[in-house]
Amino acid sequence: MDKTKLLIVEDEPTLLETLKYSLERQGYDVVTASDGVRALSSAREEKPDLMILDVMLPGLDGFEVCRILRQEMSLPILMLTAKDEEVDKVVGLEVGADDYLTKPFSMRELLARVRAHLRRVRLLREELESSGQADDGSLNGGAVFSFDDLVIDESRREIRRDGGVLAVKPKEFELLLFLARNRGIALGRSLILERVWGWNFDGGSRTVDVHIRWLREKIEEDPARPSRILTVRGIGYRFDG
Ligand code: CA
Repeated sequence: MDKTKLLIVEDEPTLLETLKYSLERQGYDVVTASDGVRALSSAREEKPDLMILDVMLPGLDGFEVCRILRQEMSLPILMLTAKDEEVDKVVGLEVGADDYLTKPFSMRELLARVRAHLRRVRLLREELESSGQADDGSLNGGAVFSFDDLVIDESRREIRRDGGVLAVKPKEFELLLFLARNRGIALGRSLILERVWGWNFDGGSRTVDVHIRWLREKIEEDPARPSRILTVRGIGYRFDG
């Protein structure tokens, strides 16, 4: 079996070396890049299973790299930020990052998150595979949830409203799918984080709230007075269909 391949993008040589060394010791196949342009070409050539991406890079920064790659591939992207600023986190989530680590971080923390994201992706793939194959060999797994004008199509990974496909980020899709599967149940923020993001990280509830806001803007008649995704005070959210 091929080794799991990680791409590390970091312009500080010492940190890059430390990360490479530690991750290789865990048995991962590691490729590296030290600027944004090389990060893009490396990701396209090497097709890594996960990417660790520094935000502040010469030339193209980490946000741009993330934004561009998200259009092309769906690998987990863990971003490294130098400062713990909310604005950075929100921008990162907008461009499609899966997770954040603020420098300085412990190697143990990084490894735990890398494992959590790889596990989440593997479970997702297994779920898709075990949901069956049609006679023609095509995958026909995946549920389709319909709520009036709203359709969540798992195998196509599409959310449609009034027949039109909504432009949603990968995490918005996964979040709505998780809510729809648990329709009518009040779900806590930490449970949502664990199931959708694969990790319960600092400032995580804010991540859930931001994504709920984005979803409401797309699927609610009046996002200020939602009727589909309701806030359950003191707990989290409930999807009513
Ligand atoms: Ca940097």
